[in-house]
Amino acid sequence: MISKFLIKNITIVNESQCFTSDIVFYDSLIQKIGNIEVEPDFNVIDGTGKYLFPGIIDGQVHFRDPGLTHKGDLYSESKAAIGGGITSFIDMPNTIPNVLTVQALADKYELASQKSLANYSFFLGVNGDNIDEIINTDTSKLIGVSDDGLYFTKKGNLLADNPQIMEKLFTNCKSIIAIHSEKEQIVEENENIYRERYGENVPIECHPLIRSEKACFEATKRAIDLANKHNARLHILHLTTEAETHLFRNDIPLGEKNITTEVSVHHLWFSDKDYQRLGNLIKWNPAIKTEKDRQGLFKALLDDRIDIITTDHAPHTLEEKQKPYFQSMSGAPMVQHSLNCVLEFYKQGLISLEKMVEKMCHNPAILYHIEKRGFIREGYFADLTLVDLNAKWTVAKDNILYKCAWSPLEGTTFTTKVIKTFVNGNLVYDNGHFDERVKGQALIIRTE
Ligand SMILES: [Zn+2]
Repeated sequence: MISKFLIKNITIVNESQCFTSDIVFYDSLIQKIGNIEVEPDFNVIDGTGKYLFPGIIDGQVHFRDPGLTHKGDLYSESKAAIGGGITSFIDMPNTIPNVLTVQALADKYELASQKSLANYSFFLGVNGDNIDEIINTDTSKLIGVSDDGLYFTKKGNLLADNPQIMEKLFTNCKSIIAIHSEKEQIVEENENIYRERYGENVPIECHPLIRSEKACFEATKRAIDLANKHNARLHILHLTTEAETHLFRNDIPLGEKNITTEVSVHHLWFSDKDYQRLGNLIKWNPAIKTEKDRQGLFKALLDDRIDIITTDHAPHTLEEKQKPYFQSMSGAPMVQHSLNCVLEFYKQGLISLEKMVEKMCHNPAILYHIEKRGFIREGYFADLTLVDLNAKWTVAKDNILYKCAWSPLEGTTFTTKVIKTFVNGNLVYDNGHFDERVKGQALIIRTE
């Protein structure tokens, strides 16, 4: 089944350039970019009029495996990701069991090697319970440690609420520390206010007032101050407020930053105006906030205070979403549609293709020290996403690939379409069809 692929006449978007070329790849790797003669054993694809991006690297997903597989699993969600042009993902530790030990982390890698169609990496979880184990672990070889999602298991376990634990971590951890930045204490005070006013049925419009700008800003400000004090490598996950964007720098290149951040695609796509229409379907933590916040995030993304775009893909069943406010789960599935969303921004003139590729492909590879991915370069892994920028389709139940089988984007018409997705040189997604014979690989982390 050795396939040598040659794409002729394709417009490649890579490293601030957009140019038409041929590209040949086999044995997992990109072999040559340039003018290439057809050889008898080449599988030739005509790329005329189409665009080729480096495969997208999603820095934050919750694929729910093991333990929560009624919501999604490493097979179903990696498949949806590939259908959306994502070839690599980094998954969060709030599975069951929580990934709080080196053994649980190793088990997850083993599971992914059997089930995941995309390339994968996993955060080691950190919270109040395992801080001493983390400190005694060689963290230098990990993609990162994170507390994201873990607070659902026990209130007050978030790093943002525990400055002493955070300081302990910042002085001892050698890997990236990716934190969910909201002050739970402020959130709880707000919850009490709104519960008194509305009982259990708090209108979803109050969500960004409960999970408020203040809760986000104060947590982020303190985390950055502590990280600076200890010279730690801090990454703030899914930024949601304009106010927080001013806490980040853009006067040095990403590779030199000790403090980085990201925006999740839904915080660029939705604003609080959408709560009335979509209700709990767009209940996320941190919350979708105002139009001013949405535009502030966009501005910070374009001027490089925000480094990467992620999805925070977090599937729940529709049943779990449609409960009253306090019981309704936060999070929604996004991996299949994040590239389409950002390409709509491109169509609206809000972002260039080069900038999009920087934020979704290059920068995640730089930020997380991922070896030989995220760029279209000879000798790099052939993770490639081939897109038609002029193809209309509407998100509907019958084309959703998520195990949970719904999307907050149902009814949305996109004007671009992922045609083919190559993972390690294999054509895994081809116009609605999947080749599931070859599984993805673990991301290799550069440690220099
Ligand atoms: Zn998350």
